[in-house]
Amino acid sequence: MTDTRDALVRAGARLTELGLSPGSSGNLSIRVGSTMVMSPTGVSLGALDAEQLSVLDLNTGHLLDGPSPSKEFPLHRALYARSGGSGAVVHLHSPYAAAWSCTIRHDKTSAIPPLTPYFVMKVGRTPLIDYAAPGDRGQAEALQALPVIFEAALLQNHGPIVAKGSLDAAIDAAIEIEEVCKLLILLGTHPVRHLTEEEAAHLADKYDVPWGSS
Ligand SMILES: [Zn+2]
Repeated sequence: MTDTRDALVRAGARLTELGLSPGSSGNLSIRVGSTMVMSPTGVSLGALDAEQLSVLDLNTGHLLDGPSPSKEFPLHRALYARSGGSGAVVHLHSPYAAAWSCTIRHDKTSAIPPLTPYFVMKVGRTPLIDYAAPGDRGQAEALQALPVIFEAALLQNHGPIVAKGSLDAAIDAAIEIEEVCKLLILLGTHPVRHLTEEEAAHLADKYDVPWGSS
């Protein structure tokens, strides 16, 4: 458990250094058996204390140890419930991804188009989750019930959330989401070539990442 706690503290510091966790926004968790260790509410990810992390029962959502968790803990629980292979969840208000989450999107299957190969390879299909106030349980239920496979989602007018097998992989994917959203914002209204469906499907297949509409 000490390694898990130290990993969360290091990850929080790294994300803050990268400018991806403004103020006290964002939250991280790691699954440990039937529990999750999570960043507490109201604490900057850059100031996490290994002795002051929240431990929750994944089945009941009850706090087992430590301070109150981030109010967004239901989203983390929902992602762990979807996939037994999810070992860590990262949620950020990283600026470019948050900006992109505020634009009007018609393709809910993936709110982020296949702009670069690395986005498809590291992240894959990223569905849009309809807006709800932070901590809303209905939004977590909607996330849990989505009928497509995904490892990342974009919360409308809010920011990205990623579930991966390890914390390092989840952070890599969150960084990749920020980078591709930065490109999308930089491109603005320029005519843009996306990867074709065939090109995206080839990469998704090769790197075993969910893509396409099924
Ligand atoms: Zn948030």
